[in-house]
Amino acid sequence: MARQTGGMRAIGLFGGSFDPVHIGHLRAALDVFESLGLDELRFIPASRSPGKPPPVAPGPIRKHWLEQASSDVAGFAVDDRELRRGGESFTNETLIDIRHEIPHASLYWILGADAFAGLGNWHEAETLGHLAHWVVITRPGFDLPSPLSGPSWLARTQTANPRELRPGETGGVLALPVTPLAISASEIRSRIARGLRIDYLVPESIRAELLDRHVYAANTKTHPA
Ligand code: ATP
Repeated sequence: MARQTGGMRAIGLFGGSFDPVHIGHLRAALDVFESLGLDELRFIPASRSPGKPPPVAPGPIRKHWLEQASSDVAGFAVDDRELRRGGESFTNETLIDIRHEIPHASLYWILGADAFAGLGNWHEAETLGHLAHWVVITRPGFDLPSPLSGPSWLARTQTANPRELRPGETGGVLALPVTPLAISASEIRSRIARGLRIDYLVPESIRAELLDRHVYAANTKTHPA
């Protein structure tokens, strides 16, 4: 669907640990990309997500897997600024940074319903509504809180219609259904460690690497790659 952007670039920003990236992330990203008519969607691997244990796989390897997995879609890109910054990855810092770099873009921060439920506890949560629009994607097993509660700016624009997120503005909240895929990175790490197959849960282009790198594997001998 083409979107009226008033000449501004529409950029989706999808943050997370991506430890590792899986098809739940990728299919959701593509659904958002098409529903909003984005010009670009950047995956932003966190150095360390606040409130979560540190990622198991090193940042450069998570970035490499993301690049491999997303390279087929024109418009998908990987932005490694949180890895370069190091430490805890605070979304407000990332958004301020991107806003300085691209002042005339419309920014859409993408997050799952599970992540959204904790938004009130994010660093500088009250400021986040000034920095981007917020796209909350559905995820099996996690209900969207209704009404949405958290920082005060959530009361401004809540919609299920992508057209109501005005280009060049910020603080709108869009609830967007995406292809329901009950897949998690923790399940994939656990499957690898237990010697179970991960076919059809991750893109084929990175499946063998996830097994070969010995990052998660307790016993890779049981996996014919
Ligand atoms: P873990 O199992 O290690 O907690 P995860 O699978 O939730 O990882 P993250 O990298 O933490 O993956 O998620 C990044 C973002 O993607 C979050 O906003 C999360 O809500 C969203 N997300 C992850 N998996 C899915 C999925 N299957 N469907 C929709 N959104 C998802």
